[in-house]
Amino acid sequence: MNRPPLLAPAFALLPALRQGMWLWPFLLALVFSLTVGRWLQWSDEQEREDARRTLIADVLTLESRISEWLSGEESAARALAKNLPHPIDDATLSRDPGVAKGLRRVWISVTALDPDNRILAHVPPHTPRPDPSLQASPIDDSDLSAHLSLPTRGGGRLIVRFAPAMVLRQTVPWWLSRKYDVRLVDDYGQRIAATADARPTGGQQSYRVSMDPLMPDSFLELATRDQHKPWWQTLPMGLMVIFLLLSAAASWTLRRQMREVASATDRWRTEAAWRRAIEDSLTVGLRGRDIEGRLVHVNRAFCALVGYSSEQLLGQLPPMPYWLPESVEVSMQRHRRNMAGHAPREGYEARWQRADGTPIDVMIFEAPLVDAQGLHMGWMGSIVDITARKRSEERERRQLEALGNQARLTTLGEVASALAHQLNQPLAALASYNAGVLRSLERLQFNDPMVLGALRREGEQVTEAGRIVQRIRGFLTRRAPQPEPCQLKDIVERALTLLRRDLLRLHIPVQIRAPAGLAPVQADPVLIEQVLINLVRNAADALSGTADPSIVVTVSAAGARFLRVDVDDNGCGLGGRSIKELAEPFHSTKPEGMGMGLSICRSVIESHHGALEASRSPTGGARFSFTLPTLTEEQTP
Ligand code: ADP
Repeated sequence: MNRPPLLAPAFALLPALRQGMWLWPFLLALVFSLTVGRWLQWSDEQEREDARRTLIADVLTLESRISEWLSGEESAARALAKNLPHPIDDATLSRDPGVAKGLRRVWISVTALDPDNRILAHVPPHTPRPDPSLQASPIDDSDLSAHLSLPTRGGGRLIVRFAPAMVLRQTVPWWLSRKYDVRLVDDYGQRIAATADARPTGGQQSYRVSMDPLMPDSFLELATRDQHKPWWQTLPMGLMVIFLLLSAAASWTLRRQMREVASATDRWRTEAAWRRAIEDSLTVGLRGRDIEGRLVHVNRAFCALVGYSSEQLLGQLPPMPYWLPESVEVSMQRHRRNMAGHAPREGYEARWQRADGTPIDVMIFEAPLVDAQGLHMGWMGSIVDITARKRSEERERRQLEALGNQARLTTLGEVASALAHQLNQPLAALASYNAGVLRSLERLQFNDPMVLGALRREGEQVTEAGRIVQRIRGFLTRRAPQPEPCQLKDIVERALTLLRRDLLRLHIPVQIRAPAGLAPVQADPVLIEQVLINLVRNAADALSGTADPSIVVTVSAAGARFLRVDVDDNGCGLGGRSIKELAEPFHSTKPEGMGMGLSICRSVIESHHGALEASRSPTGGARFSFTLPTLTEEQTP
């Protein structure tokens, strides 16, 4: 595959990425946890910011409230200072309703000073049993006091000490003291006063504002009570850490699993390669079929055997493309038997057809296919090509048969030769007796033409018989035929004259079609006559039982140098048999037949350099034809 050069590094990284795939879940979990952590941090900051803003707002609100309160106290003290009687003493001061009210609120003591800062009066008086009505508000020991200093009419000053803690108690609402530690502190951060339950150290956030001018050098400070939990200590963060640890453990397990799978895959690949190599090196074809008979596996030898590619074969269901079309039904029955598990253990033979139509003989051994769980998945067949073996067996059989036929032919030839030899003498004797009788009758001047004619014809027939015997003997003893120039039409007519009686008896009309002016042939007329007699006799045999029998013998020119004779009948026909089959020695379909006729005819014709053929006749039956060479100029006498 061609990869664009720019992407080449990315493709090079692919195997590494695939190998590190187990890390991906952990990395994703890490990214997710970091995102959650970042979000927690952000929302923590937001929260702190919000809390700070609220804190500042609360401090300012409280400061204004306290300032308002203190302003009230200052106004009350100012009014008292303004209306202070002169001269003044402790009793006068303590009787003043403003003093009593102030002491009941937040004042601790009221002191009147003259212009030289000498004490003129002081409330509450330092007595062992002070007047409870003039008792100042109780305050915490740790709290400090503050004072208001106001000028009096007489040029002195009125000092009103008050408890800032009481001020806080009066002004700080309950919800605020729950939320914050509220304190008043000095310049150095020293506590002046605080709400009752304020802790010495404040919360995480604090804010202070100056209480100037009503309480110079004092600050109001609010500190959050809640201990702020940093974002990394929150529950979600803890859960995220656990999640990360679990992801790491899962990734680790995944890594182990992936390694095991990878090594199992490697092992499986090696095994598959081994198996493929072994299968491909086999000369035995292998085919796997599932339980329905579908082809699921074929090896190279099998493909080579049947001539189809594995793509063409895989997935095929019966009927298979390599089955012989004419025996599909038989193959189907065999297939059903095999699928039922009844295939012979010792294997069975079958005839298939290659993709190019060549028939092949195969030997098939079937075995059940069982998977890892022991389940029967189908059938595995090993197929051996036995075509060559079959052919050689067939050749051997034919050779044996031919050998047998040859032996029978030789014997037959010898018998015929002996018979011809034996008949020769009686025939010669017959001929000479016939000649002697004729001569005697002539001498006695016996002139009955019928008797004399019969005797002469008898003499001719005897001479003819002698000739036939001689020729057959010559042929069987493998002497060459004795060709002579002759007219083929005459030979045909002579052969049919000899058969006339038989044909008349069988009511078979014979026609001769021979155009005039045909060239003479160079042939042994006796042997060609025998060929014709045999062909016409066979035609007559094939016509038995035919409603309207007829035989036509046609002589015609076959090219410039041959004449051709066709013997047509409208009988039963050849049933698809070729001349090779028909002319096999001893091939006969007749109960009394010897099966030698056509074999001898072919030998005779071939010894004349012609050819014997068999085909379907246009009249419906069989046509036997032979050719003979015409007389060449050199042969012309
Ligand atoms: P035979 O006549 O003794 O059977 P042949 O060699 O002459 O031996 O013939 C061989 C076979 O050829 C016959 O048995 C017959 O089946 C077939 N045959 C020959 N001539 C014809 C024909 N004209 N029509 C049909 N079959 C024929």
